[in-house]
Amino acid sequence: MPSSKERPMKPCSGTIFQIQRWSIHDGEGVRSTVFLKGCPLRCKWCANPESWNGNPEVLFFQEKCTGCNRCVPVCGEGAIDPGETAGRFSRERCSCCARCCEVCPTGARKRIGAKVTVEDVLQVIRRDAVFYRESGGGVTFSGGEPFAQPEFLRQLAAACRRLGIDTAVETSGYFDWEQVKDIFGLLDGVFVDIKHMDDERHRQMTGVGNRGILENIARISLLHPNTIVRVPLIEEVNAHEQNIRAMGEFLKNHTRVKGVEFLPYHDFGEAKYRAVGAQGQAFTTPDGAKIAAMKEIIAAYGIDIVDFK
Ligand code: SF4
Ligand code: SF4
Ligand code: SF4
Repeated sequence: MPSSKERPMKPCSGTIFQIQRWSIHDGEGVRSTVFLKGCPLRCKWCANPESWNGNPEVLFFQEKCTGCNRCVPVCGEGAIDPGETAGRFSRERCSCCARCCEVCPTGARKRIGAKVTVEDVLQVIRRDAVFYRESGGGVTFSGGEPFAQPEFLRQLAAACRRLGIDTAVETSGYFDWEQVKDIFGLLDGVFVDIKHMDDERHRQMTGVGNRGILENIARISLLHPNTIVRVPLIEEVNAHEQNIRAMGEFLKNHTRVKGVEFLPYHDFGEAKYRAVGAQGQAFTTPDGAKIAAMKEIIAAYGIDIVDFK
């Protein structure tokens, strides 16, 4: 385990969109998952498009809107045009004051995300500290991309460490290594995604290439003994033999990962895409036989398959 050099830390704040307590799928034991807002990727299957924007924002669920127009006069920015379903909503003008959310009777408008301090997050985390210890759990930092807010993540992880709370991170692996490498010394576990082994296909499906990500995975796994690779398994994207074999080769020859966890694709939440003003795309979940075959391929490279579900 690397030791993190102590560095003076100025108190800082960051943006989160949720703290999920009592999670059992984000690592060992009972965990609280802190979702940091903001992600530089745009995976076409992303289940959390509300995590993309690094700032608080207003989601608009048009299917819940009755067109009562109560939201229109309270908006001081003129961001909502009156209309049948108040659907003409200017995100550029919106200052995220949330007045429209407060008066909306149907929940069609919802502010998501908040700027919080490290201490704000700790107040929630501390409530469950006894359960983390008893279950062998802890806190998982997720996103979005948690390393997109490196100082906030650093301080959160350091504070948990001081409290004796186990910490893990879920990351896309897309970050500047030099800026964040010390943070790995503050974490007890790392979950990092491989979405596709082909650089061009990776770019088509996520908006970024995979070379830096693969380099980072190799670096993390050599530094941190508790690194698990997660693979979102999607029929149209990556669930084919050639890709999984390439992954096995890479992991065997360039990393020391503890294991691989396959996460079969599930519903991408189309309503949330519309609510953030984006367009979603539906994919297919591979069947059980396909998933078993993918696991066999990876296991044949001497890599453990892990499953927290
Ligand atoms: S959050 Fe505020 S600025 Fe944005 S649309 Fe609603 S009332 Fe207008
Ligand atoms: S207040 Fe809510 S339901 Fe009424 S028009 Fe505005 S968004 Fe639609
Ligand atoms: S890296 Fe994760 S949060 Fe970011 S777009 Fe991809 S699936 Fe969504």
